[in-house]
Amino acid sequence: MTDSNCIFCKIANGEIPSRTLYEDESFRVILDISPASKGHAIILAKKHAENIYSLSEADAGKIYLVAKKVATAMQNVLKCDGMNILQNNGEAAGQTVFHLHMHLIPRYKDDKVQIKWTPGTEAEALSQELMEEIQKSIKE
Ligand code: 5GP
Ligand code: ZN
Repeated sequence: MTDSNCIFCKIANGEIPSRTLYEDESFRVILDISPASKGHAIILAKKHAENIYSLSEADAGKIYLVAKKVATAMQNVLKCDGMNILQNNGEAAGQTVFHLHMHLIPRYKDDKVQIKWTPGTEAEALSQELMEEIQKSIKE
């Protein structure tokens, strides 16, 4: 359930103190140690899962409810102009801590946060064959 070598397991379960905005039986929401913007918070699952692929369905079903609750309170208090909610899976996607977490990044007009991509071309288009393979691979 928890991994003794994982820092986010220790923080999520209270073994390491953290600046906590919210906690329930499944999640702890803490302030990020290197915030991208004022109020940047991360939602940590209390049960260790490295990424979305191994996250339990129960936690997957609950995490967005926590995001909504905390993001709404942050918006009310911080009066931020926007909010990015994102979650990185794998090194190639920018994941640096391999315990699932979801970022809540308040955005302010003219801030310096960069979450951008360049819209692609035909070369990046997914073939019909691969699209159908993904459709078949989705398990109910
Ligand atoms: P990732 O890049 O894996 O999506 O995000 C990891 C995040 O965790 C980063 O934003 C980083 O600043 C934050 N972080 C890493 N170690 C700690 C820590 O010990 N405490 C807190 N509060 N945040 C951490
Ligand atoms: Zn962990």
